[in-house]
Amino acid sequence: DPRLARISSSIRVIPNFPKPGIMFQDITTLLLDTNAFKDTIDLFVERYRDQNISVVAGVEARGFIFGPPIALAIGAKFVPIRKPNKLPGEVISEEYSLEYGTDKIEMHVGAVQPGERALVVDDLIATGGTLSAAIKLLERVGAHVAECACVIELPELKGRERLGDKSVFVLVDGA
Ligand code: IMP
Repeated sequence: DPRLARISSSIRVIPNFPKPGIMFQDITTLLLDTNAFKDTIDLFVERYRDQNISVVAGVEARGFIFGPPIALAIGAKFVPIRKPNKLPGEVISEEYSLEYGTDKIEMHVGAVQPGERALVVDDLIATGGTLSAAIKLLERVGAHVAECACVIELPELKGRERLGDKSVFVLVDGA
């Protein structure tokens, strides 16, 4: 698909951010390119529009940029999955391991009903820890996760292996 090359070249790579040795994939430059941003959303909408997805769950923070336009276009609701202590209502939380230490994400109780079909959206999959925790949150409330969708994958980190039998659809590999 010719749109993928434009998306890929619109993503800026910033070396040594936020730490030495990290090549940060910066999607803010994709958002500045109106064609690349539209193509990104269109590619996801084309894939998910006829899949009976009732909820798009976006992971803080950049899942909040890509998730809502997909949700609106496919007629699904949007549910934010957030960092700890941000959501005001009753939450369920899921801890996951990082290279050093752990992190946690939370979702409002009652936002997703048992039996719903969910799509999880984030900007990037690295080790897969964030997405696997998001999948667990949704499955704990009885939802079925149809797929995860990311703009970028860092394939050398083998994040897919951490997702078990769940598939992740990505548009481009990180540079
Ligand atoms: P994982 O949990 O190791 O798969 O890391 C994915 C999470 O870290 C996502 O929420 C990403 O937004 C964030 N992340 C990791 N590396 C980058 C990057 O280079 N650019 C943007 N986000 C990143």
